[in-house]
Amino acid sequence: MENTTQKNDKNPFVKAFANNSWNTPDNAIPFDQLHLNDYIPAVQAGIETARANIAKVKNNPAAADFKNTIVALEEAAEMMEAATGVYFNLFSAEASTEMQALAKEISPIGAAFSSEVNLDADLFARVNVVYSQMAKLGLNSEDKMLLEKTYRGFTRNGALLNSQDKEKLRQIDQELSVLGPQFSEHVLKATNLFEMLLTDKKDLAGLPESAVESAAADAKQKNKTGWLFTLQAPSFIPFMQYSTRSDLREKLWRAYSSRALEGDTSNKKIIMDMIRLRTERAQLLGYKNHAAITLTERMAETPERVFTFLNQLLDVVQPAAVKDVAELRDFAQKLDGTKEVKPWDVAYYSEKLREEKFKFSDEELRPYFQLENVVQGVFAHAQKLYGLQFKKRTDIPLYHPDVNAYEVVDAKNQYIGLFYTDFFPRETKKSGAWMTEFRGQGQFMGEVRRPHVSIVCNFTKPTLSKPSLLTYDEVKTLFHEFGHALHGLLSNVHHRSLSGPNVYWDFVELPSQVMENWVGEKEGLDVFAKHFETGAPIPADLVQKIRDANTFQAGYGALRQLTFAILDMAWHTADPQGIQDVTAFELQATARTRLFEYVPGTGVSTSFSHIFAGGYSAGYYSYKWAEVLDADAFEYFKEKGIFNAEVAAKFRENILSKGGTEHPMELYKKFRGREPDPNALLRRDGLL
Ligand SMILES: [Zn+2]
Repeated sequence: MENTTQKNDKNPFVKAFANNSWNTPDNAIPFDQLHLNDYIPAVQAGIETARANIAKVKNNPAAADFKNTIVALEEAAEMMEAATGVYFNLFSAEASTEMQALAKEISPIGAAFSSEVNLDADLFARVNVVYSQMAKLGLNSEDKMLLEKTYRGFTRNGALLNSQDKEKLRQIDQELSVLGPQFSEHVLKATNLFEMLLTDKKDLAGLPESAVESAAADAKQKNKTGWLFTLQAPSFIPFMQYSTRSDLREKLWRAYSSRALEGDTSNKKIIMDMIRLRTERAQLLGYKNHAAITLTERMAETPERVFTFLNQLLDVVQPAAVKDVAELRDFAQKLDGTKEVKPWDVAYYSEKLREEKFKFSDEELRPYFQLENVVQGVFAHAQKLYGLQFKKRTDIPLYHPDVNAYEVVDAKNQYIGLFYTDFFPRETKKSGAWMTEFRGQGQFMGEVRRPHVSIVCNFTKPTLSKPSLLTYDEVKTLFHEFGHALHGLLSNVHHRSLSGPNVYWDFVELPSQVMENWVGEKEGLDVFAKHFETGAPIPADLVQKIRDANTFQAGYGALRQLTFAILDMAWHTADPQGIQDVTAFELQATARTRLFEYVPGTGVSTSFSHIFAGGYSAGYYSYKWAEVLDADAFEYFKEKGIFNAEVAAKFRENILSKGGTEHPMELYKKFRGREPDPNALLRRDGLL
């Protein structure tokens, strides 16, 4: 008969941790040996091991110190983390229905285990002893950061509360964990509920061939005759941009802007409940509101600082946005005599104005962006900036034939890590693009190890006649994700939980966003942008058009982002007692950013999934915050030359290699010699 030990002996995760090795080239994840049935036993075995490790920490007769408590905790759950880490990577990138279904078991197991650890009073007592001695322990900056992070992990999850309040917190967390998914479910339902079926060819006026084709395909799929338009981005956006029928655009826009506002899918009550519960949770833990507690682990630190930041941007952006809209009004009047531009007209006239001003389309750029050339181009950037070389490896196990693996070495031929790429869409992959790690740099399986980093995208596929030719946006995305990858690859720390991209939320987009700047420069594009058939370099006038178009309607675009950021902060600093109605609250909070008269029956909050169903609550400002950092950082490169070795070395030494081992503002100041200049972003956007 087979017993658990025998079963576990065959589990690849259990075997690997018994040997401190995967027994593969580079100790890479053996994707070819993992099976659907391996994950849950591995997570369970991992939790058992972690429990035993934690019991050792608690029962240690020696007084608690940094090594026997904080470092021991950091290493306690390695097997569980490895199993869930591999699982969730594949959940996003390559998951069959069966594989997806496992999440319903794995997520609650993980959540229950983390509550068990966070609310363990004896364990916290030892952590607290070490924390209270921090000043006299003579720790270096990295160890201090780990100690603080560990301590906060406990206190922010209720370790300091009495048992009655612990119970309250557990209840609040329980209620909140249900509301987020309900919110997204409503948004999804409301989005799918609306359909606009057109049966008269005249109604398609202005639409590009590709949009007409997919609308016909969507109709056919639902056994309907004609052209079907929906609120899904690939259907909605082209219609708003190209349809000459203002009445139909209005219909679509009104449907989009009233999602989950009223009726069965209304999110109004959910929002009120969430704001109340989040405020109660924050206050239970000793903070004024949800924003205040969230920002304790952000570079911005306090709600006041975020508001000051947003309002300073708004002072410049608001008048620029008013000008952008005035320009659109003049243009619309000239184009077709339209007297009043409504919210559903903006995308349409904006697209027409862009075409007239810059005289190029995205389609003209594609031939210069063959995927293979762009990949070699981004590698060449890493070589010029950081001396890195990428060599394709054929002996590394992969989870899909589309995936490639590269060995990365530095200028001295020293091993930096493994880099995987996974570029094309498929049914088993989530939409969007992201960077991820199969193994973060740092202490793992008994020694400090180099990282295994991956980028996953959904780029234009090759066809029978043409290779993959990217849009300019896709090129920017590749450079963006590669910037995150460099953050992972060049990490050089000890504790794995502080390595690479494990930094504050409003700092993590600096390494990625900064890389996008190089493809906005002629010198950067000239490295790789060559015609895929003739090999001719991208013409200088086309590069100039790309650069000019970068600041088109920048005020209007920035104002939209600021509206979301300000609304998010308003919700998460408000006193829930004072809120009577979701719409009334939203109108008041966004009064300063409004460019058009309010259209009754519409709103933003009830479909604002980032903050009510994603991780961005009190964090939407991070996008703009990191844009300031990357614009300011890139000005330094531009000043000295975009491939300047000295600036690159400083960026690597102070930002890319340091992960979260020091406060991000300290790291930034070491790189730049001063705090970031808030005007750098406005200068780049052409708003100053
Ligand atoms: Zn990013």
